[in-house]
Amino acid sequence: MAGLYIHIPFCQSRCVYCDFYSTTLPRVWQMPYVRALVEELRMRRAECGPQVETLYLGGGTPSQLSREALLKLFEGIRAHAALSPTAEITIEANPDDISPKWIETLRETPVNRVSMGVQSFDDGILRTLHRRHTAEQARRAVGMLQEAGYDNLSLDLIYGLPGQTLEAFGADVATVLSLGVPHLSAYALQYESGTQLYEMRRQGLIEEADEELSLSCYQRLIDLAEGAGLEHYEISNFARPGRRSRHNSSYWTGAAYVGLGAGAHSYDGARRRSSNGEDLAEYIRSIEKGERPCDEEVLDDDTLYNELVMLRLRTREGLYLPEVEVVYTPERRLYISRMAERAIKTGWLTEKADGHLCLTRQGLFVSDDVISDLMA
Ligand code: SF4
Repeated sequence: MAGLYIHIPFCQSRCVYCDFYSTTLPRVWQMPYVRALVEELRMRRAECGPQVETLYLGGGTPSQLSREALLKLFEGIRAHAALSPTAEITIEANPDDISPKWIETLRETPVNRVSMGVQSFDDGILRTLHRRHTAEQARRAVGMLQEAGYDNLSLDLIYGLPGQTLEAFGADVATVLSLGVPHLSAYALQYESGTQLYEMRRQGLIEEADEELSLSCYQRLIDLAEGAGLEHYEISNFARPGRRSRHNSSYWTGAAYVGLGAGAHSYDGARRRSSNGEDLAEYIRSIEKGERPCDEEVLDDDTLYNELVMLRLRTREGLYLPEVEVVYTPERRLYISRMAERAIKTGWLTEKADGHLCLTRQGLFVSDDVISDLMA
């Protein structure tokens, strides 16, 4: 199965915590960029396989694309890729971009899933993060989309934010659940070097949440989401039955994907990974010359094994141990069993009768340590 990812790196402004590749270049860059995306797709159409099962427009802020640019992009996708009739087609959107007019444009595309970065329903925190929307705009955006028949929605939240209490985060989760969306992703705040937030912490302008509070938020998240009937199918992701993100699930199961655009990554499902450079102008120039501006990496056995362990153990299904023996060697299978012994005894991992090694609920809270102990 081939998943297609398209990176739309335009943002109206930068959020203080963000380290994704994006730019605040003006709208005049959109059409040349879309033309380059379509050309890259044409160049790489063979990599997409006979049918594209999942398409994901991520960013950046794809909802910042003008009507003209968005429709041009889908015209190009239709011309050069065969979208499966049952394809999951997701667009990431910022709540303040959602309007009746934007939804009208969306109807002219085959998009059937919208993922929104809400992050918090506290206006003070949203301002600290330099998010452009308010809590009310986020609620309204969900309502508008649902009314228009887009019920396959996902909302993102962040916990461990400066000034956020356990009660406030619990209220955010409760708000998401009350909105009736079928998918929720929630991430612990990361202070990535090079971001404004990192600087703010260094200068003492904000106080980092302590680890205990973050863990309590995670616990509250799981209790509330599972209590409301959502399945905890990946460390940071929850979904109603049948509403898991098919696109992101294919990353965790090691399927091939093709990434188009500046800063996008691709993987051939075997040993080759590549990434396009993070420079929009250079990307357009290279594609116009018929060259893809990318770095390629051939993954060695240890890297492949480490990624298999890390990605599979993030999922509810876990790592199928016989796969380690088949893909690698019986020695590697023995190695992981030996390394897992301590975590199994402590109750952080469990080996199921069907051969899957999974994190227990307790293990979820120390997952980084447990997973790194199993690595090569
Ligand atoms: S809108 Fe999204 S991609 Fe753009 S700066 Fe904010 S978090 Fe980053």
